[in-house]
Amino acid sequence: MNFADLGLSEDILKAVADAGYDTPTPIQAQAIPSVLMARDILGCAQTGTGKTAGFTLPMLDILHHGRARMRMPRSIILEPTRELATQVAANFDTYGKYMSLSKALIIGGESASEQGKILEKGADVIIATPGRLIDTFERGKLLLSDCKLLVIDEADRMLDMGFIPDIEKIVNMLPKQRQTLFFSATMPKEIRRLADKFLSNPKEITV
Ligand code: AMP
Repeated sequence: MNFADLGLSEDILKAVADAGYDTPTPIQAQAIPSVLMARDILGCAQTGTGKTAGFTLPMLDILHHGRARMRMPRSIILEPTRELATQVAANFDTYGKYMSLSKALIIGGESASEQGKILEKGADVIIATPGRLIDTFERGKLLLSDCKLLVIDEADRMLDMGFIPDIEKIVNMLPKQRQTLFFSATMPKEIRRLADKFLSNPKEITV
């Protein structure tokens, strides 16, 4: 299997080649074509399996044409920690270097007013930790009616950190008609229950 066989556009394939990746990892080979076909995903994968590119590459492809309107992001990636959110944002820049999509990193510990300014201009992707995202929404800095692509990453860590009520709140803020990609390293009962609630006929991938 080659990256070129997955259905990704040229701009993304070039960035992947620049990153030095030869072959898609198993989660990438399974997830990318399904995400491009608008399927929901339930991915059971640890860090180190290449799951970040597994969701970021097809997201970039889906968002490729089109532009976010002011304060109206088109997608959200939820991460349990600031560090993970920052890493995913860096991946987004690496893989999206030949595209002109905009992102906003909405995490605690950074200036909320600076983040508000970026959102004001329109961000195609928000990469966020749950608390700051809810805060930003409640301060009226975000309109979520265009946000039809959601990634919940590291769901089991979200559970350990007590973020599940926040995640439920965020999902309830989003349009019902959306594509959801859900990843967890383990699948305890509570995580399964959430996945059943948030996903519609997902492709299940375990690596
Ligand atoms: P992740 O599991 O998303 O944290 O990725 C783990 C590491 O694998 C990161 O440093 C990526 O840059 C790298 N990586 C992701 N996909 C590939 C690939 N197809 N070939 C080689 N390295 C990769």
